Parts: sequence; C-alpha cells; structure tokens
Amino acid sequence: MAAKSTKTQGTTARGAAGLSIVIPMFNEARNLPALHERIAEVARFLKIKRNLAVEVVYVDDGSRDDSSAVAQTLPALPLDVQVVTLSRNFGKEAALLAGLEHARFGAVLFMDADGQHSPDLIETLVSRWQDDGYDVVYTAKAHRENEPFMRRLGVKTFYSLLNWRSRHKIPEDAGDFRLLSPRAAEALRQMPERNRFFKGLASWIGFKQVRVDYEPDERKHGVTTWNVWTLIGLSIEGLTSFSVAPLRVASALGLALAATALLFGGWILFETIFFGKDVPGYPSLVVSVMVIGGAQLLMIGVLGEYIGKLLAEIKGRPVYFVADHTVKSAEDGAQEIKEAKPVKVTKPRAPRAAE
Ligand code: UDP
Ligand code: MG
Repeated sequence: MAAKSTKTQGTTARGAAGLSIVIPMFNEARNLPALHERIAEVARFLKIKRNLAVEVVYVDDGSRDDSSAVAQTLPALPLDVQVVTLSRNFGKEAALLAGLEHARFGAVLFMDADGQHSPDLIETLVSRWQDDGYDVVYTAKAHRENEPFMRRLGVKTFYSLLNWRSRHKIPEDAGDFRLLSPRAAEALRQMPERNRFFKGLASWIGFKQVRVDYEPDERKHGVTTWNVWTLIGLSIEGLTSFSVAPLRVASALGLALAATALLFGGWILFETIFFGKDVPGYPSLVVSVMVIGGAQLLMIGVLGEYIGKLLAEIKGRPVYFVADHTVKSAEDGAQEIKEAKPVKVTKPRAPRAAE
C-alpha cells in the first residue's frame, strides 16, 4: 500500500472519547424531528452510562426541500449538531464522505435519515466497539426472504462477482449502517479515491470487524431514491472499484471464442479435404460474426468503465463542495460557524515538463 503512515492505536487528532453520527439526507425534512429526538435519547443514555460525548453530523446532499433549515433548528441537547449543506446533490457516497471529513470525534457511525436504521441499535453497536474491541461494526439484514427473487439474485450475482478470487471478501448484505472505531475511521479517511463505494472500503481496511443482524424499519416519509438503474449503477461502481473480474471475464471469453473458432476452422478443413464440401454454411458465418462482434462491443464497454474511472481519478476533482456549515455545540448553546466558501480545494496540478 502507499506510503502514508497509519495511526496505530485508538487515539486520533479528533479526540477519541466521542462518537460522531453521520446522517446523509436528501429530501428528508419530514423525517428529521422524530429521528433527532430518538438520537438525542440515545445520546443522553450514552453520556450517562459510558460518559461518551456524541455529535450528529447532518449532511444535506442538495435536498430540494428544507432539510437543512429543519436540521439547523434541531436542539443541540445533549449532543452537538453539525449541519453540512452541500452545494448540490452529489449522491449518498459523497455525502457520507463529507460527513466523515467533518466528524470531530474519533468514532464515526453512519446511518440513514429516513428512520430505516433504528437508533435503538446504536447502543448495541457502541457496545461491540467499546466492550468487545471491534473496529468495524456493520449491520446486515437478518432476513432477505421477503425480497423479490430477482433482487436477491442480483445481490447474489453482484457479490459473487465482487468477491471472485479476491483476497479479501466483502461481506454480503452488509449495509451502510455501521460504526467505525477511531482508527478505522482514520483509515477510511486516508483512502484517496474519488469514486467511493463505502461498504467495500470500510471492509477493505481490515481491523477487527463484526456483523450485527438487524431488521430495517419501514421508511417513515418520502420515497427511496434507489431504483433498478441506480442500483445497477452502484453495482458497476462497486465492481470496478474492487475487482478486475470483468476484465478477466473478457479475456476468458476471448479465449473461449478463439478456441471455438479454431475447432470450427479445423472441422471445415476436414470436411473440405475428406468430403469435398468447399462452401461452408452461410448461417454459421453470420452467427459467428455476430457473436464475436457482440462480445467485442460488450468488452469494449467494460474497458470503457475502467477508463472512465481512471479519468475521474486523474482529474482529481473534489468529491463535493460545501455551501454552508453550522455547528451548534451542546455546551455553549448556539455558537455558529459559517463557512461561505467550499472547504475542499483541488490540489494544484504538477507542472508540465517543458516541451
Ligand atoms: N441520500 C443522500 N443522497 C442521495 C440519495 C439518498 O444523501 O442522493 C440519503 C437519503 O436521504 C437516506 C439515505 O441516503 O438518508 C438512504 O437513501 P434511501 O432511503 O433513498 O435508500 P434505501 O434505504 O432505499 O437504500
Ligand atoms: Mg431508506
């Protein structure tokens, strides 16, 4: 791995004795007040029982409703409340990164804003981290049986491709609802890539990981932003981030086609020499041209995915921009920090060699 040094044990510059709860939100204004109330209850409990300071980082991912305004009015008691408003909708993965980078405490917990990730589980996740010493505590759906068959098949195929012959297996069914210990969160921050697939990255970093089964609740208000196409998009993102299996499939397919063509050619030669048939069938010709053409186009598409990724990484654009940032601290009531300009700055490009 690249040369950046990793902090060894639990402590970070961000202070270890605290938990930042990162919540990405896209049009979730109606879900916030109830969610916040439940999180505040958990925070109160954690403060008393474990003396753990808690902050919540709401990341407004370019909502079209007043999610940010609502979040800013939420009471900072007994926990700090940060609201990071992105300049537009960048997607959940970018919002998660924004939350991770703004989190001020060591440990970081990610959860959805729609109430599907029950705050009641936070205590369990914290206990696995603090009492049992796990670094990554991830949740996974306990039951998938009631999901549509095609979806389950899709998930299965995705993970078998993703994990095919890979040294490190990304657990199936793991969700974004997870807790990272200070050193795991710090490791995640060090991942330089712009194309992010959080579930994969959080697993890839290693350390002690443990699974907690849970049953997601129903969405309280609004509708999910995911559909078949966005899920396929995320799957391609995940696959190309973590695996070169699609490229290997291309090579394998090429090899298989070439071998078939060779056999077929041999057979035609045999027929011509021994049976005098010198005009092989026209349909077989068309079929083979189409098969080879189709396979080639498909594989050019696969190559294109990786090249597109390379381009995005090389351009080195920031993953998100912050339009507005407020911090309400539990202690001093309503101290506000406003930042008008984006906090992320693109690194200057290396000067070109003189031509
Ligand atoms: N979300 C986001 N940006 C987006 C889409 C979604 O921050 O572009 C947030 C959303 O507000 C929610 C979480 O990501 O808190 C999960 O989204 P959703 O409930 O739509 O997904 P599902 O639970 O159906 O997987
Ligand atoms: Mg949801």
